[in-house]
Amino acid sequence: MTQPCPICAAPAHPDHAPFCSRGCKDRDLLRWLGEGYRLPGRPIDDEMLEGLDKPRDTA
Ligand SMILES: [Zn+2]
Repeated sequence: MTQPCPICAAPAHPDHAPFCSRGCKDRDLLRWLGEGYRLPGRPIDDEMLEGLDKPRDTA
């Protein structure tokens, strides 16, 4: 029962599961860190979501 590496889809290696190699493991970590840095500091998106969330067509 071997799941494919989520980074490159190669068969995962038991030593680096669920990744195929340490390189892919590091890549996944860097990707998460990159997204984590990008997430904060976007108040405009929150305002837009709030506006969309309000029910406008209630009579
Ligand atoms: Zn891989």
